[in-house]
Amino acid sequence: MKFADLGLSDKLLKAVEDAGYEEPTPIQAQAIPQVQMMRDLIAIAQTGTGKTASFVLPMIDILANGRRRALMPRSLILEPTRELAMQVSENFEQYGKNHDLKMALLIGGVQMNDQVKALNEGVDVLIATPGRLMDLFERGKILLNGCDLLVIDEADRMLDMGFIPDIEFICEKLPAQRQTLLFSATMPPPIKKLADKFLTNPKQIEVARAATTNENIAQFKVEISPRKKNQALKYLLEVDNVQTAIIFANRKTTVRELNKDLQKSGFRSGEIHGDMDQSSRIAELDLFKKGEVNILVASDVAARGLDIKGVSHVFNYDTPWHPDDYVHRIGRTGRAGAKGRAITLVTPEDREALENVEKLTKMKVPEFPWGEVSGQGGGGSDSASADDEQREEKPAEERKPRSRRRKDGDERPQDRREERPRREKSRDDKPREEKRDRKPQAKRHADDEPTKPGEWNGPMPGFLGVGFD
Ligand code: AMP
Repeated sequence: MKFADLGLSDKLLKAVEDAGYEEPTPIQAQAIPQVQMMRDLIAIAQTGTGKTASFVLPMIDILANGRRRALMPRSLILEPTRELAMQVSENFEQYGKNHDLKMALLIGGVQMNDQVKALNEGVDVLIATPGRLMDLFERGKILLNGCDLLVIDEADRMLDMGFIPDIEFICEKLPAQRQTLLFSATMPPPIKKLADKFLTNPKQIEVARAATTNENIAQFKVEISPRKKNQALKYLLEVDNVQTAIIFANRKTTVRELNKDLQKSGFRSGEIHGDMDQSSRIAELDLFKKGEVNILVASDVAARGLDIKGVSHVFNYDTPWHPDDYVHRIGRTGRAGAKGRAITLVTPEDREALENVEKLTKMKVPEFPWGEVSGQGGGGSDSASADDEQREEKPAEERKPRSRRRKDGDERPQDRREERPRREKSRDDKPREEKRDRKPQAKRHADDEPTKPGEWNGPMPGFLGVGFD
């Protein structure tokens, strides 16, 4: 199927062509006709499937006809996090560049004045997080009774974040005669109930869970004792040919501490979590997008739905408590046809959580293949050519496990730990920016012999086979 077969306007087709999309993704092929027919829709799809364009594209054509009115947005897209809201607004700008549509972004953590000004001038689409929208509504700065197209995006995440009462409140303020589109990666009972209450005769569509059925993501687990997690993670960062990685942790404090520890060890890492203000989150994301840091340590809330191209690895420093989060986390890699690797550290405490993941995804996560460590992270040369300026310029063949570059040939992490105090001391004197400029350790020894992918059959790391002590 071609985009032209979907009956989108020429202006929109041009924008899609400029975006470089050749054909609609399955969710787009299924959802766009339903939206055009003004049907309510329940779409079970997660980020990475092209779901944003599946509602933004037809919305643009629908909104192209009609007039803006002050304070009365014509359509509303609800997003659970500021980052997602910003991402959707970027999509709207990109696809709507040939249309005269006005958009306002209502998110917390930024000045309200400009948002109120935009509302006063009239907007076609309002993209909002529930909290800020409720705030402005209660202050009388916004009227929702002219809004006859509503999108509830990432509904299951809204549930996790406790936004369902807000969404119910907002739905009640919208005209009863409206079109409602609900997107969710999963359909837990409260979301089903919400849909039953606020959608009218919806068409339900479901696309394959990209992360779980995505053959482009190689998934592994590493069973490890809690106190050896940092050691194991750093080892993997060095030997698995990591180009860009997002490392997820379950707690904000872990995110902060882990990032500090990685920086101390010379990795170019940044962090993103819910306690950071909006401008810091944006700044940190920018560094990652530009490749100034190649490792982002993240919490679930902050990272949900982030569309960062070319992430070669996802690490679960902690096995997520909710199995759905596993699917979302690993979906940050293997996007848009690129290959990726997802590695989960599993302590004895995490075993039950991993079992829940395996039940949900209906697959067993295999052990990390230590004997085959190849330096082919990110799917090797396939993914390196995928699309990404963030990746390092070296071809996969030239990257190699750090262990191969050591003259003594012994790569056991215990040895590196003994070196650390001396290295930390000198690094600690350096300011943070300077640390970021440094390349990851795996790049520092350019003069050693290259290793071909798949060639290394190096020693099993020392932290394995020691049991969960
Ligand atoms: P989403 O699921 O909306 O987060 O989109 C995931 C990524 O897919 C984004 O980077 C989009 O720009 C990209 N994308 C969306 N539609 C298409 C398409 N038809 N072809 C190729 N890439 C697409």
